[in-house]
Amino acid sequence: MVRAIVGANWGDEGKGKITDMLGESSDVIVRFQGGSNAGHTIINKYGKFALHLLPSGVFYGHTTSIIGNGVALNIPYLCGEIKSLVDRGVPKPKILVSDRAQIMMPYHILFDEYEEERLGKKSFGSTKSGIAPFYSDKYAKIGFQVSELFDGTLLKEKVERVLEQKNILLEHMYHKPKLSAGELMETLISYRDMVAPYVTDTALYLHDALKEGKTVLLEGQLGTLKDPDFGIYPMVTSSSTLAAYGAIGAGIPPYEIKDIICVVKAYSSAVGAGEFVSEIFGDEADELRKRGGDGGEFGATTGRPRRMGWFDAVATRYGCRMQGATEVALTVLDVLGYLDELPVCVGYEIDGKVTKDFPVTAKLAKAKPVYEKLPGWKCDIRGIKEYAGLPENCRRYIEFIEKEIGTPITMVSNGPARDEIIRR
Ligand code: GDP
Repeated sequence: MVRAIVGANWGDEGKGKITDMLGESSDVIVRFQGGSNAGHTIINKYGKFALHLLPSGVFYGHTTSIIGNGVALNIPYLCGEIKSLVDRGVPKPKILVSDRAQIMMPYHILFDEYEEERLGKKSFGSTKSGIAPFYSDKYAKIGFQVSELFDGTLLKEKVERVLEQKNILLEHMYHKPKLSAGELMETLISYRDMVAPYVTDTALYLHDALKEGKTVLLEGQLGTLKDPDFGIYPMVTSSSTLAAYGAIGAGIPPYEIKDIICVVKAYSSAVGAGEFVSEIFGDEADELRKRGGDGGEFGATTGRPRRMGWFDAVATRYGCRMQGATEVALTVLDVLGYLDELPVCVGYEIDGKVTKDFPVTAKLAKAKPVYEKLPGWKCDIRGIKEYAGLPENCRRYIEFIEKEIGTPITMVSNGPARDEIIRR
């Protein structure tokens, strides 16, 4: 059986915690897209961790963690992350890396920086982890698969060929130092030695695991609104953030994905540029940012302050629909206990007309939020274990959101720790 955990919004919905929690009942946990550009925050008995490339299941002794073929694999980053866990007393996790995963090259990171620098004010607000140049090269067919590291002759020939093109760009477009094939070869050989213990045909491994009746968890990064097709293009990421892509990025049949858990945050937050209809500013935003998440809403990878907003039912309903959500986990609800009333964005006004359907980006830019206000519950809900124990106005908020998004909310998270969850 395969379950997917994915985000309905802009990311940072708290997927890390839900994955960590559901990891306990899983055998295999797979990252299927993205790279080290987003982070999950996990709090467990070993402490507080921000994972960027490793799946959130690495804390369990019984799970196998897979870096799937769809991932942008930064090899030194992966090894550093494994080491940082072991250094803090976590037992060495069982990790497998797909032989078809492509390698984040040092120049992808450089090109990401140089391009953002060139764009200046028009930059994408990239985390500069090399993601966009990486996926561009993958689809331009000049990327490097992990398997290619193990064929020295092929590798050398390809490095020379690819650098020819890269050096033209470096010299004439960015006016930056050129790269040497010899140095890059040395780097790649060191990458080969670092990654070698983990490399295997992970699609075959998953095929066998499913045949044996194992439980597989697909762990998504970011959310629907950052998907290159269905998100707020062009302010999106460069690999699909949808559960459907889990089949490709892990190498499993699509019909195996039986349960799609969409993680939805009880208010909105976003990092980076892009349309955000229910965004709030000033003191109102500062207050929510300060109280939000676990110790404030600041990016897990970059430390940047997140943009804040009220719950957007239009974006979230669309987010759940495009994910094919079978259930929703509503997170960080505990943060909202200070509010007298809670605005929920229930429609977008575009050119004088109100719509409940999430539009294309050009129209989104013109959308104004239509709010409905719900009464606050004015107390701390942390520590409550039963749904019936939540204050009435809090349940009203949950049930209102559930009706708006049209997907059952089966889990409510009222604190950052693994056990702070109310099942309905
Ligand atoms: P992800 O990228 O979707 O995994 O999101 P992150 O883990 O980066 O961001 C979510 C933040 O909220 C982290 O700091 C979590 O520890 C925290 N968090 C998750 N669930 C809850 C919750 O129910 N309540 C509170 N207060 N914090 C939460």
